[in-house]
Amino acid sequence: MGTVERIQAVANRIKESYDAGNQVVVVVSARSGVTNELVARAKSINPHPNEREMDMLLAVGEQETIALMAMALHALGVPAESRTGAQAGVITNNSHTKARILRVEGGDIPELLSQGMVVIVAGFQGINSSGHISTLGRGGSDLSAVALAAGLNADLCQIFTDVEGVFTADPRIVPDAVKLGEVSYEEMLELASMGTKVMQARAVEFAKKYNVSFEVRSSFNNEPGTIVKEEVASMEDVLVRGVAIDKSQTLVVVSDLPDEPGTAAKLFSALAESNVMVDMIVQNIGREGKANMTFTIPREDSVLAEEVVNRVFQEIGGSLTSTTDIAKLSVVGVGMRSHSGVAATLFETLSEGGINISLIGTSEIKISVAIDLEYADLGVKLAHKAFGLEKAVG
Ligand code: ASP
Ligand code: MG
Repeated sequence: MGTVERIQAVANRIKESYDAGNQVVVVVSARSGVTNELVARAKSINPHPNEREMDMLLAVGEQETIALMAMALHALGVPAESRTGAQAGVITNNSHTKARILRVEGGDIPELLSQGMVVIVAGFQGINSSGHISTLGRGGSDLSAVALAAGLNADLCQIFTDVEGVFTADPRIVPDAVKLGEVSYEEMLELASMGTKVMQARAVEFAKKYNVSFEVRSSFNNEPGTIVKEEVASMEDVLVRGVAIDKSQTLVVVSDLPDEPGTAAKLFSALAESNVMVDMIVQNIGREGKANMTFTIPREDSVLAEEVVNRVFQEIGGSLTSTTDIAKLSVVGVGMRSHSGVAATLFETLSEGGINISLIGTSEIKISVAIDLEYADLGVKLAHKAFGLEKAVG
């Protein structure tokens, strides 16, 4: 919701749904850019802003849009009232800036609905047991929407966003990528957390835990989006659901480590304590009882990770090299559980394209490879073609 016009456009859609006889609760996020602006302002005043005050500040963005949305609905003759996260009974734990939702009590929303009101709830925010405002992490309005749908027992949960749904690959890279009709929570998690950036991963995890099926669709048109739901047997018929790419990885090679119990624990505990998310770890034994480890991290954490690893070296020894421009390409699909040969097809395709693989990681429903960033788009195109995804069922 960037502008007044956008808010009015959304209000019109809400009116349509209301006029069709639905009870409607709308979760809104801040106007686009506002949260970033508030973060920047805070950091210009204090490079390490207190997290409680940060939440107090960031919650403002959504408080603006709930009021404006209610007013826009009034202008259309639709009875509506806004509620903050606290008023909607979104109860979180005590951590700030990335609070977890403990439960959604709903406040007086059921009463308002039965009075024929549309209720507009501020996304991204809640309240903790000490009565302080908390926020749910960037993109947290998605989580608010899913949690309210669960808490209020909604029949339908729709996430309106700036993409049309979940695609077999990023359509900007693969023009004949297909919008998927439905995906399982797990596939969505893999596709949303890596590159396709459709919605907040924590929101999908919450939906999976409480089995809230939802639809991701565009706020700019009326096309149906993608339904995300519990896995059903027929989903396994499809080998690969989509190709995801994460272009923001760094590859770290740590050599000459002591090959003895506790080495990996020391290294990765230290990284975890500094909140560096490590992915795709490989260890192998080098010469003279020394071990090497290779892993990937988010590029933005490169400097921090080097500091942390160097600190661990002071205790156990070792040396480090890193390659910053790495992409992680993944093929994802629950069908991999019951079919073999996916990895071989992927490796063959990449090799035909002259793309070197630095690291391989697998899970039950995913095969990931680390490749040079400059080959990222080519890799996605080739994999998309190799698995025939342009013929996927939309
Ligand atoms: N306004 C918050 C953010 O920018 C929450 C959201 O947009 O979902 O992260
Ligand atoms: Mg958002």
